[in-house]
Amino acid sequence: MGKRTLELNERLYDYLLSVSLRDTPVQAALRHETDQLEMGMMQVSADQAQFMALLAKLLGARRVIEVGTFTGYSALALAQVLPEDGRLIACDVSKGWTDIARRYWQQAGVADRIELRLAPALETLDALVADDQGDSFDFAFIDADKQNQRNYYERCLALIRPGGLIAVDNVLWGGSVADPDNDTDDTRAIRDFNTFIYQDQRVDISLVPIGDGVTLARKRD
Ligand code: CA
Repeated sequence: MGKRTLELNERLYDYLLSVSLRDTPVQAALRHETDQLEMGMMQVSADQAQFMALLAKLLGARRVIEVGTFTGYSALALAQVLPEDGRLIACDVSKGWTDIARRYWQQAGVADRIELRLAPALETLDALVADDQGDSFDFAFIDADKQNQRNYYERCLALIRPGGLIAVDNVLWGGSVADPDNDTDDTRAIRDFNTFIYQDQRVDISLVPIGDGVTLARKRD
């Protein structure tokens, strides 16, 4: 027992999942299909998706934005906790990946709650802002190209309501953010973003070491 977060080895992580992960058969099938893809490691961890779905449920979320949908696992987990007239706007640029997503959304019976926008996410977000939809979303999940992390964050902050929540993925970037010898463009962008949001007084924050690290930011009233 210590003051720091427990380190999870394979055995303990498997145990954690065995007593907490409540994947539906459709979710499990989607995870399995995505794992076979070359880019399969981009899939959000199942326990993280379940955690975010719980947060969305706690918020009573009806309107959700997702920036970076890939093959749709996180969107599926989030859409499942929305009310029937809830809406999730999913932003991605890949038809191939989101075709997989749509198949599973259909199977899970949540396809009518998910509006896929196949375009650069900044365009979609700017259009929502221009359409006067600021302060109208409850939850946003940002998990796309890391160079634009800050840009996505600013748009999402405008779009969510006071008290709403933004979850930003990959803030620990496999641990490379703390490695002084790692100076890739993505690592630097994530470090810069982490420093920025730490100082940002518009939000309350917590960096949660789940998955690849997710920062939660609650928009202050
Ligand atoms: Ca991610």
